[in-house]
Amino acid sequence: MTTAERADTRRAVRARRVFDGLDLCRAQDAMVLIESGFITDIDTTGAEPPAGVPLEDLGDVTVLPGLIDTHTHLAFDASDEVVAHVQQATPEELSAQMRRAAASMLRCGITTIRDLGDRDYLSFTIREETAVRPETGPTILAAGPPLTPTGGHCWFLGGQADGLDGISRAVAEHAARGADVIKMMVTGGRMTPTTLPHESQYTLNELRAAVDRAHERGLTIAGHAHGRQGIADALAAGFDTLEHVSFMTADGIAPDQAVIDAIAASGIISSVTVGVLPGAAVPPPLDRLLPLMLAHLKNMYDSGVRITIGPDGGVAPAKPHDVLPHALSALVEAGIPARAALAAVTSTAAEACGLKGRIGRVAPGHSADLLAVSGDPLTDIAAIHRPSAIYRRGRRVL
Ligand SMILES: [Zn+2]
Repeated sequence: MTTAERADTRRAVRARRVFDGLDLCRAQDAMVLIESGFITDIDTTGAEPPAGVPLEDLGDVTVLPGLIDTHTHLAFDASDEVVAHVQQATPEELSAQMRRAAASMLRCGITTIRDLGDRDYLSFTIREETAVRPETGPTILAAGPPLTPTGGHCWFLGGQADGLDGISRAVAEHAARGADVIKMMVTGGRMTPTTLPHESQYTLNELRAAVDRAHERGLTIAGHAHGRQGIADALAAGFDTLEHVSFMTADGIAPDQAVIDAIAASGIISSVTVGVLPGAAVPPPLDRLLPLMLAHLKNMYDSGVRITIGPDGGVAPAKPHDVLPHALSALVEAGIPARAALAAVTSTAAEACGLKGRIGRVAPGHSADLLAVSGDPLTDIAAIHRPSAIYRRGRRVL
C-alpha cells in the first residue's frame, strides 16, 4: 500500500458528544480517528487531526457505536402472511426481499445483525454480499434454519431435528455450511399455530447435547424460550443467549422471580423481544400483553439481568426490520435508563454476538461502525430516530 492509498483510508470524525458503548465521554468535543476500517484513537484534547487526514466535523451530534440487532429474520417479510410468503416465495424472490430488509436496517444505523432463522440458508449469501459491499447492509451473523422438532415451531424453515442423533447431525450440517450461530426452538411459538409458546419442545438432555455440539465447533447457540420451563432448561443447558424470555403461559405471562434471579446470577445475556411501530395495529392477545411485557423487562433489568434487544423484525406488520430504534424508545419509556438501553444495543449486544472487543464500542481496535444522531439520546432518546451520519467499517454510508 502506498502512502497515498494509506492516507485514503484514514479519516477523522468530530462530534459534540461520544457515547462509547458504555458511557458518555466526558469531553465537550471528541474526534474519532479511523484507519483501514478500524478506530485507532479517540482524541478529547481538541487537537487537530494528523497532517493529511481529512476531518469531518459533524457538529451538534452524538456519535455512538453502530446499533446491533441481536434477533431478526431477514426472510420474514413483515406482512400479514409471513408464513405463507416464506414458504411460497422462490429463492430469488426471497433473496431480493432479504436484500431490501438488510438495506433498511443499515439506513437506521444498525451495522450488525444476528439473523436467527431463515429458509434454505439464504441469509448466508446476503451475509457474503454485505461483507464485500458494506454500503448494502449490516454485518450479518447467520443461523440458517432454526433447529426444531418435526412439526415444531417454525418447522417450515427446514431445520427439523429430533433426538440426540438428529440434533448432532443438524448442528454438524449448520457448521459445515458456515453458520455463525445455532438457533434452537426450545419452546413453541405463536407464529406456528400447531405449537404452544409456553410448552417445551426438547428435553434438558437434548438441549445440553445441542449446546455441547455447537461449542465443540466454536459456535454460539441461541435458545428461543417463552415458557418458564423452557427458559429454566435453556439456562441450565448453558446456552449463550436466551431469546424472548417472556414467561408466557396459556393465557398471559407469569414471570418467575427465582428463575429471573438465576438468569441474573449466571451472567447470561437475554435478548428481549420489544419494539413495535408506533400506531401499528398489534393483534390480540399481544396488545393486552405488551404493557405487561414492558413491566416484566423493567423488572428483569432491576433484577440485574443483562439484556440486549432482539425485536424479531419481520414477523408481523408492526415489526418491520428497522424497528430497533422504536424498541430503544420503548425500553426507556418503561423506565430503563437511556444509558443502559444504549449499552444494551451496543456493547452488550456485541458480547451476545461473540464479538466483544471487535464491535459495539467507540474505542481503539474496534470496527469503525458508527452512528451519529442529532442531539443527545442520553437525555432525549427520540434523538435515536434522527441519524445524521452512518459509517460501516469506516466507510460513510449515510
Ligand atoms: Zn425470532
